[in-house]
Amino acid sequence: MGIENRGHWSVRKCSKTCVKCAKEFADRESLFSRLLADGEEYVREDFCCDCWNKKYPGLSVWKTVFLVPPPPAEETVKKENAESLLRKLIDQDDEVDLDAVFILAVMLERKKILVERDVQTAENGSKMRIYEHRKTGESFLIVDPQLKLDALEQVQERVVSLLGGKPHGDDPASAPAKRVDSAEE
Ligand SMILES: [Zn+2]
Repeated sequence: MGIENRGHWSVRKCSKTCVKCAKEFADRESLFSRLLADGEEYVREDFCCDCWNKKYPGLSVWKTVFLVPPPPAEETVKKENAESLLRKLIDQDDEVDLDAVFILAVMLERKKILVERDVQTAENGSKMRIYEHRKTGESFLIVDPQLKLDALEQVQERVVSLLGGKPHGDDPASAPAKRVDSAEE
């Protein structure tokens, strides 16, 4: 049972209620999460421990802890950090950023902001890594570009320059997203 390429990456938030009994999760309550492939999308389902009384088949299953989401951050103009840059690149969903997104996820894992929960390998050998945000419980689905060493240096340089606040170059609003999976014949 391999995974197919369903877009480049995405974020799935922890739900506030159990998918089965609709009970609201309490702060710091343990719960179980799984990811399912639903057509083109990954769907994340969160279960309370009571409902998790049998093994649910899913692509990935992990135990986690529900955390009440922090209040929205104040609107401040601050320097880009690795996390805000990762979120921005995920929003832009541009194929050209695939390598940079992966490097940022690895950086955030080293900073213990993200935790790797699973790695899925498709039949064609491509890898998807599933990270969970320690504070918000969001799942980040990140394609592992399996970079070679020489390419790695270039990507790291690009990430450093993006973090340094240099403009991204092309305006995402005016540049249509390039997607290899929607190529015409
Ligand atoms: Zn439940």
